[in-house]
Amino acid sequence: MKEPLHGARFLMAETAHERLPVPEREVAFVGRSNVGKSSLICALTDNWKLARVSKTPGQTRAINVYEARKNRWMVDLPGYGYAVGPARQRNYWPEMIGRYIGERATLARVYVVLDAETGPGEIDLSMLAWLVEKNIPHRVVGAKTDKVGGSRVGHRRAQIAEQIGRPANELFFLSAKGGLGVPALKQDVIAALEL
Ligand code: GDP
Repeated sequence: MKEPLHGARFLMAETAHERLPVPEREVAFVGRSNVGKSSLICALTDNWKLARVSKTPGQTRAINVYEARKNRWMVDLPGYGYAVGPARQRNYWPEMIGRYIGERATLARVYVVLDAETGPGEIDLSMLAWLVEKNIPHRVVGAKTDKVGGSRVGHRRAQIAEQIGRPANELFFLSAKGGLGVPALKQDVIAALEL
């Protein structure tokens, strides 16, 4: 059977979320700049040319939309946590991210992507608390597990689960580079998008 995410294509990049059209269903990816969201989208779609993998933190300010099928979107929201400006602003995500997540009726699920090695930062924890408060369906993804080292992965997963107060089996733990753990997330995205 053809993998439903493998035919995904880049649809558009937009800095003003109000200008985006509304699909039937969408999922969104959020996380700190450089956490590996672009690589994750490449791994999910098995297309390493799809999302430009940037090397400079904070470079992407736009919302990047990928279409898995007509009107079924994967949305890469701008990375947070590297805001230029006063240090006190660095632990806030751009207002646009909050508005986007809070206002899209078609948003089936938000994936909060964390670095599996360094764990959740303050900004990730505040994002998770906000999603709970707003009752927005979401999942947590620990990325770059290849940096953790094979024997420590299970332990690291349990540690992070405790830090964020969720059961360990609810966490996706994966490496976009090695591909380990990617199929489970793929299935979750496919289910969320009803593909
Ligand atoms: P984004 O800013 O969140 O879109 O992050 P990118 O996908 O551009 O990745 C940021 C950096 O992390 C790049 O140097 C990637 O090569 C690296 N990276 C992404 N995914 C992985 C992974 O699974 N393992 C490792 N070791 N590095 C990764």
